[in-house]
This record gives sequence, structure tokens and C-alpha cells, in this order.
Amino acid sequence: MTMTKIIRGRFAPSPSGRLHVGNMASSLLAWLDARSLGGEMIFRLEDLDPERSYMDYARLMAEDLRWLGLDWDAGWPGDEGYSQGERTEYYREAFDELERRGLIYKCWCSRAERLAASAPHPGEEHPGSCKCRFLEGEELNARLRGKRPPAYKCAVPDEDVTIIDGHCGEHTRNLARQGGDFIVRRSDGVYAYQLAVSVDDALMGVTRVVRAEDLLSSAPRQRWLIETLGYTAPDYAHAPLLTAPDGRKLSKRDGDLNMAELRKLYTPEELTGRLAYLCGLIDRIEPVAPCELVPHFTWAKVPCGEIDISGVF
Ligand code: GLU
Repeated sequence: MTMTKIIRGRFAPSPSGRLHVGNMASSLLAWLDARSLGGEMIFRLEDLDPERSYMDYARLMAEDLRWLGLDWDAGWPGDEGYSQGERTEYYREAFDELERRGLIYKCWCSRAERLAASAPHPGEEHPGSCKCRFLEGEELNARLRGKRPPAYKCAVPDEDVTIIDGHCGEHTRNLARQGGDFIVRRSDGVYAYQLAVSVDDALMGVTRVVRAEDLLSSAPRQRWLIETLGYTAPDYAHAPLLTAPDGRKLSKRDGDLNMAELRKLYTPEELTGRLAYLCGLIDRIEPVAPCELVPHFTWAKVPCGEIDISGVF
């Protein structure tokens, strides 16, 4: 008997603002990618950061995707366990597992120190690790006795990890030299994005991760983390970033051309037509429903690099 692999994609928005035109383009591509392969979609709410999560935005995000014609088979808010706020237990288990393997260390660096940390030098024994990893004796005890709670970092090996991105092609990063050790639990106890997203994609059986290209550099690290935890990593495809006419990356928090405005200006088919045109899926701007794009979808049509939205929006 042959087992057919279930194809499962995901929407994974953080509720930090209303979805903007770039988020909608990535969401459309994620949905087309999964549906064109006969796959499922899930909706996972990435409300990990309590300071930046607003439930009103979360509800609007789900509604905006449905309004456009993008659906999913399971997820927030109807199903339990699809918001990161409910999943701390899973992140703790993964954290404990990494700790058992000796990969976790406490870090007291300030934000400024982390940003200022110089690039690793050739020949360094532990490139990508900060000085906190090697604290010992009185210096370590003083930190442990101090009032400032540490963050927790995961130590990565000096190793190249390659992903074959469904859109951008081969992408290799050396974990230690390009990125280095990363925070898995913040000093306020909140588990960090890289750990949470890797655990969720693994445990939710996600096989296709489609998201904007600004996260391409995180994919090798996430693949390594998932495999280190004993799971199979998904396939990745990173969608082109849409940029404002001045070249700036669009941002949810800046309120860039978002769904509040877009829904006043266009019908769902008109908006889908504009997004599809920008993404190279149709030759001219005309109304189209997402489901009509499914049979002809291929990443080969989608341009590489950034896409300027001027002239279309
Ligand atoms: N939650 C992230 C966002 O809204 C996306 C994370 C991911 O797709 O891995 O930008």
C-alpha cells in the first residue's frame, strides 16, 4: 500500500496590525501553492508577543482572507490549539529537549549589545556565540545572583544548511557565521519566534511554508531546529516582497495600504486581479476569483526580487 503524503500549507499572521497589500499577495500565493497541489490550508495565529497582539486585528485578519476568497480547513478561531498563545506547553517541551542536549545557555546581553555584537572572526572557536556562553566562576555567579533575568539562547553549530526554495532556488547559510546563536526564550519568559514557528510547523504537519522573502534567511535555521528536534522540515517557498513606490518595505504597523482601505476601493475579484497581475499570474489587470487561478498556478510565473506596487495600487 502506498501512503500519499498530505500537503498542508498555512497562513501564519501576527495580529500586530491590519493585513496590508503585501500580506495579501503572500497569502494568495500560499493558498494557491497548497490548493494547486490538492493540499490543505490551516490558519495559525502568531500571537506570541502579548505586547504586539491585538485580538481585534486577529479577527479582522481571518475575515479579510475569507473576504478575498481564501479559505482554510482548520485553524483559529474555530479550532483549539491554533493560536500560539495556547501552545506554550509545546514550546517548553522543545526548549527542555534542546536543554537536555546542551544547546541552551543563558544570555544577559542588552539589546544594544546584541545589535553591536561584531561579526564572527575567521578562526574563532565558537563563531556566532556571545560571551555569555562562556561565563564561569565568580562572573557567572554574579550574573545569576543579579536581578536581571536572562534570555535563553540556542547554540548553533558551525555548519552550512541549504534549503531548495520553491521560488528563490538554492539558499545556503552557515548557521554560526550568518545569524549565530539565537534567542529561544526572552528574558520576560515569552518563547521566541524561531522556536515557536519551528515547533508549530513540525507539530502541525505543515509541509509547505509560503511567506514573504524577508524570512528567507530564517529558513535554514528553522530547518536545522526542526530536524534537531527529530521532525521532518517542510518545503519552503518565499514570495517576492511588495514595496511602496519609494522602495520601502510595506509594514502592518505603519498602516500601509491595508485591507480597511482596499475593501473600500475594490471588490474581492478586483483586488485579487491586481494582486495576481503583480505576482505575474495574469497578463492584464482584470477581476478574477482566487479559485480561478488554481489550475494555472506555477511559481515559474512569479517574478523574483521586489515588486513595486505603483501603477497597480
Ligand atoms: N507571523 C509572521 C508574520 O506575520 C510570519 C511568520 C512565518 O510565516 O514564518 O509576518
